[in-house]
Amino acid sequence: MKITVVGYWHAFPEAGEATSGYLIEEDGFKVLIDCGSGVASQVQHYCDLAELDAVVISHYHDDHVSDIGSLHYYRLLQPHISTSPQKPFTIYGHGEDSEAFEKLSFEGKVDTQVYKANQSLRIGPFTLHFYKTTHPVPCYAMRIETQHSTLFYTADTGFTTDIVQAAAGADLLIAESSFYKGQDSSPFGHMTSEEAGQMAGLAKVPALLLTHLPHFGDHKQLVIEAQNECPDTHVETASSGWSKNI
Ligand SMILES: [Zn+2]
Repeated sequence: MKITVVGYWHAFPEAGEATSGYLIEEDGFKVLIDCGSGVASQVQHYCDLAELDAVVISHYHDDHVSDIGSLHYYRLLQPHISTSPQKPFTIYGHGEDSEAFEKLSFEGKVDTQVYKANQSLRIGPFTLHFYKTTHPVPCYAMRIETQHSTLFYTADTGFTTDIVQAAAGADLLIAESSFYKGQDSSPFGHMTSEEAGQMAGLAKVPALLLTHLPHFGDHKQLVIEAQNECPDTHVETASSGWSKNI
């Protein structure tokens, strides 16, 4: 599985970048995990929009979903600007906010499908499992497996042991770190660098990628603070175009 960070900012994108978006690829199949502001533009550095097979949305906060509208308009215009046939394209989201889920649809130009916790979802070569997180709105973390490897993405969450257990043994943990050690992140349903590191240590993952990064402080400090909690894990911060094969 190849993973590419399309966007990693919390709340809003800095110049020329994007909020949450991760491209995963296996056997030529391409799935976008979350589609925040700037993602529809930035993902084109890594693949043509026509190549995308699916998008999976963790929750309906704008920094995870706002560029779905751009993908809708692309699908609308694609038959008029491209000679290659349009391939099927499905947007997956949870159904706990029916109004927000309905907005994933667009005049029959895309397919939409609800995912649920405790129900595995097959998308091409990927099998996804969903876990409810601790966040002000319903949000789901994802364990994404292929025959060869496992990725775990926390989406937005406060620290919970349920998510730790769900992430156990993954080859890569992409964990949100919206705050620095010592800040009180829990009222916002987010984690600090320290908590992301604790999660990685308890889940015994070999690699931790900190993401959903704050617009303040020095991100190098996030790595130091997380690394102290998981000495056996390789810790990095996300950046645009960061990529890894697992
Ligand atoms: Zn959120």
